[in-house]
Amino acid sequence: MMRRKNRRHTPAAATLLLTAITAWACAACGGGTHAAPTVFAAASESPVGGAGSSAAPGSSASTSASPSASASSPAAAAPAADSGLSGKVVVLDPGHDGGNETHPAEINRLVPQGFGQYKACDTTGTNGDDGYAEHQFAFQVALLVKADLEQRGLRVILTRNDDMGVGPCVNVRAAIGNNAHAAAAVSIHADGGPSGGHGYQLLEAVQSVGGSGIVSASHRLAVALHATFDKESGLIPSNYVGSDGYEPRDDIAGLNLSTVPKILTECGNMRNAGDLALEESATGRKRIARAIADGILAFLGQ
Ligand SMILES: [Zn+2]
Repeated sequence: MMRRKNRRHTPAAATLLLTAITAWACAACGGGTHAAPTVFAAASESPVGGAGSSAAPGSSASTSASPSASASSPAAAAPAADSGLSGKVVVLDPGHDGGNETHPAEINRLVPQGFGQYKACDTTGTNGDDGYAEHQFAFQVALLVKADLEQRGLRVILTRNDDMGVGPCVNVRAAIGNNAHAAAAVSIHADGGPSGGHGYQLLEAVQSVGGSGIVSASHRLAVALHATFDKESGLIPSNYVGSDGYEPRDDIAGLNLSTVPKILTECGNMRNAGDLALEESATGRKRIARAIADGILAFLGQ
């Protein structure tokens, strides 16, 4: 797919590629494909300056202000079967943010992608034909997953605490999981693919700064979610990209830079009427959230 094109490029080349990518290419999922149609003026900024790994406004707040962090006190009352999970940290990373579209300079600046590559801080994400936005969907699902996992005694950190901010940058999203020493981290997105295509995708890094052990653990996390997506989400493995729902990628900063097990879920294709209907319904979102939560729990129970 065209979104695989942006590999091994210099920051300048990245800018050219990003501008050339169509609205389909994913999602951004960090892929930078949903790049706002606006100009990438900020791309000329110092690539490293933006690294933002420490500067993103949302990062520190995200890690400390998660309202849920303290809500896990009832964990002691969690069912005995979950006792092994108590106290473990899970990071949920809802893709994009509601303010990205109106802050092109901030989200278009280049940040490290890992292994010497750079990409845009973030993108706007995709949306359904009726305007239902990926960032909103991702945040809604993340809150459902969070509530579910907290009930099971886990501590959950979100990479953003509302749907009105900007970013954080994709490299910072990885750093939040790393700094929390998360037992598992999952990015939540929806794709913007061809209207005839549908289904979920589980994106995995082919190479991680965390080493091969993290790549293997992340794959086990993907396998766990594959089972629960098949059983519970209402979505099938993608029929238009990847292989049986799995998609190895080398251009996802949030995965490349993770030193904890992490994958990115594309929870259906918002450009497909059937997937969009599921994503837009409260029932559908609950199914998807349950699949994510149960997949994480299965992985942690291994
Ligand atoms: Zn996305």
